[in-house]
Amino acid sequence: MLQFGACEGPMWPRRRTGRGKVGAMESDALREAVLAAVRAEGFELAGIAPAAAVPAVREAANDALAAGRLAGMGWMDPAWLERATDPDCFLPGARSLIVVALPNHSPEPEPGPAAGARGRVARYARGRDYHRVFEKRLRRIARRLREEFGADARATVDYGPLLERPYAELAGLAWRGRSTMALLPGFGPWVMLGVVATTLDLPADAPIRKSCGSCARCITACPTGAIAPDGGVVDARRCISYHTIENRGAIPRELRPLFGDWVFGCDACLDTCPVGQSRFESCAEFEPTGPDEAHPPLAGLLALTEETFLERFRGRAIMRAKRDGLARNACIALGNVGTADDLPTLAGALHDASPLIRGHAAWAIGHLANRCAAGSRVRPVLERALTEEHDSSVREEIRLALADLQDEGSR
Ligand code: SF4
Repeated sequence: MLQFGACEGPMWPRRRTGRGKVGAMESDALREAVLAAVRAEGFELAGIAPAAAVPAVREAANDALAAGRLAGMGWMDPAWLERATDPDCFLPGARSLIVVALPNHSPEPEPGPAAGARGRVARYARGRDYHRVFEKRLRRIARRLREEFGADARATVDYGPLLERPYAELAGLAWRGRSTMALLPGFGPWVMLGVVATTLDLPADAPIRKSCGSCARCITACPTGAIAPDGGVVDARRCISYHTIENRGAIPRELRPLFGDWVFGCDACLDTCPVGQSRFESCAEFEPTGPDEAHPPLAGLLALTEETFLERFRGRAIMRAKRDGLARNACIALGNVGTADDLPTLAGALHDASPLIRGHAAWAIGHLANRCAAGSRVRPVLERALTEEHDSSVREEIRLALADLQDEGSR
């Protein structure tokens, strides 16, 4: 889950069906019947929004795009944003959007027995891939709307093109927090959202009249200063979630020390939100299956091959980072939270087949050595790597690491 919009991906097929099966059913009765079908799929949190375009949201997103704040999310071009803010593009003839949410705040598991430095995975990605958890249920709801209610229907969970958060607000489920997250009363930002668009004309819920007031905890908690000083805008170019999940290239060097132990996503702005501090039950499928899913040993992530990555993370949101992205993130986290014992692991990563990983391993060796007063120990390792390296981007990373290296006597 990213803080600034939806991901590209496959969309479910939509089918047009005849209308009129519900005939003269009163609209309130129709709404109740539809919500009963939604609850039957386990969605206790649900609201209905009118399927109206949200041009103000589109304009704000276009401004963010023009200012470069959407970073490398190239699919969010003006045409995509036009479609994602107009339900009629998503489902021609759409009259209503049924917005559903599942709570996702599993408790922190006890650390596992494995020794060594560990990374941290955002809560939403610790259990089953939430797209899969939603997909089957939303598909069944859409099918019932077609077959039992004679309406057209189409569902989405994050794939788009339909931005879910503005419609969660219109559906009376949430208000927009300063961190840009949808905040649900009692749950805060700890929910995952899905939408079913339908041609049924259902009475809508009233939006929640609430705001964050003077609270700015998310802004001060953000390690990279990605949230605008007044809130409401996240700059993806500085956001750990964006970089660890979506960025396929090098992480900006100046941000790397600020990533801490995050290897997939970041919950810093969510963790601090007072709206989500009450206790509630999470959807069981979002629970991690073990401590290593929440706090994976970093050396283990660096040892993953393409095959073992697929084997371990199939059916999990982490797949989106791909093996190289996750190993790159593990290098940064090891540089930030590892100990001198981790230097040999990073030295091994200097021989990885991926230049992306070799370059980040060089940075991590330099950063970790400076933290552990091991500069003179790693200098020959980096110098040798420089003589053997042919990739220009990796050579530059090694040169910069050597230039920043502090020998013990110089500290
Ligand atoms: Fe992004 Fe983390 Fe900052 Fe939130 S706290 S905006 S997820 S970097």
